[in-house]
Formats: sequence, C-alpha cells, structure tokens
Amino acid sequence: MELSFILNHLGEDRETYLNAVAPPVFQTSNFCFKTVDAMRQTLTKEFEEPFYTRGYNPTVATLRKKIAALEGSEDALVFASGSAAVAAAVMSVVKAGDHAICVKKPYSWTNILLNQYLEKYGVKTTTVDGSDPKNFEDAILPTTKLIFLESPNSMTFELQDIEAVAKIAQKNNIATIIDNSYSTPLNQSPIKLGVDIVVHSASKYLGGHSDIVAGVLATSKSRIQKMFSEEFMTLGGIISPHDAWLMLRGLRTLELRVDRSSQSAAKVVAFLEKHPKVERVLYPFSDSNPQLAIAKKQMRQGGGLLSIIINAKEVSEVERFCDNLKLFLLACSWGGYESLLFPMCALHNSKSYDNPLPWNLVRIYIGLEDPEVLIEDLKQALDKV
Ligand SMILES: *Cc1c(COP(=O)(O)O)cnc(C)c1O
Repeated sequence: MELSFILNHLGEDRETYLNAVAPPVFQTSNFCFKTVDAMRQTLTKEFEEPFYTRGYNPTVATLRKKIAALEGSEDALVFASGSAAVAAAVMSVVKAGDHAICVKKPYSWTNILLNQYLEKYGVKTTTVDGSDPKNFEDAILPTTKLIFLESPNSMTFELQDIEAVAKIAQKNNIATIIDNSYSTPLNQSPIKLGVDIVVHSASKYLGGHSDIVAGVLATSKSRIQKMFSEEFMTLGGIISPHDAWLMLRGLRTLELRVDRSSQSAAKVVAFLEKHPKVERVLYPFSDSNPQLAIAKKQMRQGGGLLSIIINAKEVSEVERFCDNLKLFLLACSWGGYESLLFPMCALHNSKSYDNPLPWNLVRIYIGLEDPEVLIEDLKQALDKV
C-alpha cells in the first residue's frame, strides 16, 4: 500500500462521522445497543467492534489499521507506552519454564523485564552478542521460545542481521520480536525479513511531537487474537483515545519528519567525524561502523539518533560541552521535533559510575531545526571542551 495513502487516508471512514475531514476523538468509555441481541453479537467480537474502550475504540482502530499497513502485518495493537507493548509481546510468547534469548544492550526496561522481572515467573533469559547470528543459534535450548532483537539499539547502535536470525528462529520454531523504534517502519521492515512481532515506542518518531507516551505492536491476526484476550485485556495497558488522536495527527508528517531528521543527522555525523574533540561517532551509517554492510542491507537510511565519544580526560569537560549547547535540550527520549542531548555522565553518582557505557559518551538526537545551525552550535560547544 502506498505510504502517503496510509498516513493520510487509510482507516478514516469519514461517512461514519458526518464527513468530518479530521477524525473525531471518540472520548467515550463505552458504547450502547438497541437490543439485547445486538449487544450479544458484539460481545463475541470485542476486539473489532465498539463495546468497551479497553478493547476497541474507533479512534484507536484507525491507528491500528495504519500501523499494520506501515509494518506490513495483518493487524496491530496500541498501548499506553512502548514498554507496555514490549511486555505484552514478550509475555504472549513465553510461559513458566521457557527460555528466552535477548540481544545484548536492549532498551533498559526491556532488559529488566527479561533479565529480572520474568525470572519470578520462571522464565530464564540468555543475553548474547548480536553481531554474529551464530551466537543466537549456539544459545538455543530445548526450552527456547523467544529471540528478542533490537536493531539497532538506541545508545550504541549495534545491529543484528535480522533475516539471518529470523531464519534460525523459524528453523527451531522460536518466536522473534524486534524493537523497531529507531528505524520506524519507513527505514526498516522486519516482518518482510521474517520477524514475527514488531514493537515500537510510539513516544519517539511515531508520535513525533514529544507530547505523548505510547507504544504499538504489529503481527499476525492469529497472534493478535490470542494476545487480545490474554495480555491486552487482562493487563489493560491501553492508550487513551486522546493520545491515539495525537498519534494519528503525528503520523501525517511521519515521512517528512523522519527524512528531515535522518538527512540532517547524516550532515551532523559528517561534521563530527572530522572534529578533533570527537574520539568516535557511533551511527549505523557511519563509514567507520564495522557493521555498515548490515546497515545497508536491511535499513533504508540511518535515523536521527547518534552518539559521540568525546575526547576528554575529565567529566567536567563533557559537562562543559553539554552545558554550553544553546539549541540542544538536555533531556531523555528522542524522535520529536526538538534536538536533544543525553550524556552518560548524568548517570554518574558521587560514589561510582555503574554503567557499562563510557562516561564520555553523549547521545545526540537531531530534530527538525536547520542542520547548519545545529552544526554551528555543536562546533562552538566542542571548542569549549
Ligand atoms: C523509549 C524506548 C522504549 C520504551 O518506550 P516508552 O514509550 O518510553 O515506554 C523502548 N525501546 C526503545 C528503543 C526506546 O527508545
């Protein structure tokens, strides 16, 4: 399906809401019926017809159609956060006694879910270096039911060969989940590469305006049906109709925003790679990335997020760089309109630096501002290191 049609028209049944051009927010918890029989009929298909908003809401339904079409899946679900989507996906494929394999350095709360939280339900997880597909194969046990991927991750951008890992999983009857937040459906299509379930933090690019926390999940109809009556309805981590509406509005410009942010990031990377105060740039499409060939094979372009290792001897030098930037906001998250900065040294406490990532690593998100102006700002702040 053509991208601009998905973003602007798919799932918008305008005749059903007085031909309003912009869809209304169905800000209602429940829906009523003329007869008992009509009520009875709807109760058998709560996930595809309006009955109660935890299960189905028309504003959210429009979003589900768009997300599924964007990822090339049969159906999709929308959640109150990316973490809720990750948890529902993971819990839908593992049960007590099962084993999961997770790529090294996933998103922090995904790591806690798999490596700590699910232990109390009897699920064991092995973490593997994802740079070689064989590492996944070697970690498979008779009880392995899940391989969790995040390619690239959102701090240091290591990639996995998605197609190769998906093949290994299929051969061994293991479900695969990938966190595709970095790439968005525009820059990477994991379902085409054989992955079973795609999840996103929609708080990032899909929402795109730093005003909602939300998550999405795309997969087959049969998985969605099972997940609906289990994780989705019981855990109940749904998006509100109003936030769903904001995501629909954000999606209108997804292609414009992602392309602008990606293209500006490429310019910023080219500048940073030549700067003497920058020891290294971490970016999937950097010429210095040892995994560049995999990036080119499975991604259409890099995103707007990158990291630098600053050529500094002391934390105070990194702080001087960050504190002197005028346009970049010091904040977590990414994927909005505004450029952001997240320095690892902010995790420094007075006693020790308990983090596997280098203290002089600074993550940079390139938003929609003029890239030349952003480069000027980075330049004056690097000069102060
Ligand atoms: C932010 C993020 C998440 C978590 O999403 P929330 O919407 O904050 O719950 C998961 N994965 C990645 C890669 C993220 O960047």
